[in-house]
Amino acid sequence: MDPVLESCGNCQQDLAADRTIGLTYCSRCGTTLPSIEPPVEDDDPGANDAEAKARERKGMRICFWVLFLGTPGAGLLVGLVSNWLGGVMPSAIFHFFPTGLQVFLTVCAGLLATGYCLAKLRVGTATRADLVAGSILYGFCMIFVYIAIGVVGCSIGSAAVAIYRIFK
Ligand SMILES: [Zn+2]
Repeated sequence: MDPVLESCGNCQQDLAADRTIGLTYCSRCGTTLPSIEPPVEDDDPGANDAEAKARERKGMRICFWVLFLGTPGAGLLVGLVSNWLGGVMPSAIFHFFPTGLQVFLTVCAGLLATGYCLAKLRVGTATRADLVAGSILYGFCMIFVYIAIGVVGCSIGSAAVAIYRIFK
């Protein structure tokens, strides 16, 4: 705020000196001075905070979609690569760490990460325990989302095939 260019409403004395020493009345005539609001900081830390939060949420949303769309693909890829590796190099590793388990762990990690993004987005500022519980819960729910998408996809697919057969 600019230095107050103010004069007394009663005697027109310049009040800058009176304000500086903290007087609440005019030093010449004794008129009570209107109170001055404390200067407001220009860069409001609350606004910066909200901006950072919005940026974080945007990042989380992108993360969610990448993980949501990428998890089935990653599982498939791990399965294919693992199968291929198992064929190329016969190894005891695959006996204890079979392809199915590798795919399962990959998908689980993807689900948990997706769940974490959702928990972050939905729960917001939460304790670590809340976030962990939310990640597991949302990750578990994602299984049903994928199943639902699979069922709908299969239905649309078979409907398309049926329609195709009718008009063939
Ligand atoms: Zn005065």
